[in-house]
Amino acid sequence: MAIIELKGVSKNFGGLRAVDNVSFKVQEGEIFGLIGPNGSGKTTIFNLISHFFPVSAGQVIFAGTDITRLKTHQICALGVGRTFQVVRPLKRMTVLDNVISSAFLRADGMRRAREQAEKWLDFCNLTPYSGQLARGLPIASRKRLEIARALATAPKVLLLDETAAGLNPGELDEAIELIKKIRESGVTILIVEHIMKVIMSISDRIHCINHGQTIAEGEPRDVAKDPKVIEAYLGHGGGGHA
Ligand code: ADP
Ligand code: MG
Repeated sequence: MAIIELKGVSKNFGGLRAVDNVSFKVQEGEIFGLIGPNGSGKTTIFNLISHFFPVSAGQVIFAGTDITRLKTHQICALGVGRTFQVVRPLKRMTVLDNVISSAFLRADGMRRAREQAEKWLDFCNLTPYSGQLARGLPIASRKRLEIARALATAPKVLLLDETAAGLNPGELDEAIELIKKIRESGVTILIVEHIMKVIMSISDRIHCINHGQTIAEGEPRDVAKDPKVIEAYLGHGGGGHA
């Protein structure tokens, strides 16, 4: 069964149609890559799934239930977790407390929330930082903290928005390993990523948009050689980027 389905979803910002009649289905257990040049509407699609903004048209379905009109916290409680392109941890709190605050979505007390938080910090290789203030973390660890916070909400689907941006090659490999490990834990992943190496090596299927419209969908190797996809990136001067 599709765990996330978009049916003809559109979003207008004033006169700009940022997302234009996009439909796709993400199957349970899949790593589904969403790509497109800068400004093509990827983050907006995440914001529509999580209802940070209302859709202008169309429907968002989660595991067979129409969630289009639900509130953001209800969508999170159903099991749709996410990270943000611009990481925004609670800077004055420790790494551990950041994750504890997310775990409270489900935990019925401090002890349980702390247990869960410690589990996800370990999962994300963040245990050595747990007592540090979040604002002092280097970028790669901040990205992992963002993922740990999302995982602590116990999502069934995780929306990852450019969590590999700004990482060096060694950190990229770690990020790829972490994403694979998340999928192995049973979480379906919808990922927006600019770095070709990452998106191509981990996605089962890729959906490509340009100017808010779908231009291709399929297996990574097919999408990568699709003339419409190549043109969208070349037209954008995005050599080397996805
Ligand atoms: P991507 O993530 O693919 O780079 P975005 O989804 O962030 O692209 O943006 C798609 C388009 O929508 C861009 O033209 C952007 O300027 C515009 N946009 C995004 N969010 C808003 C907003 N809150 N208000 C107005 N325009 C927006
Ligand atoms: Mg974006």
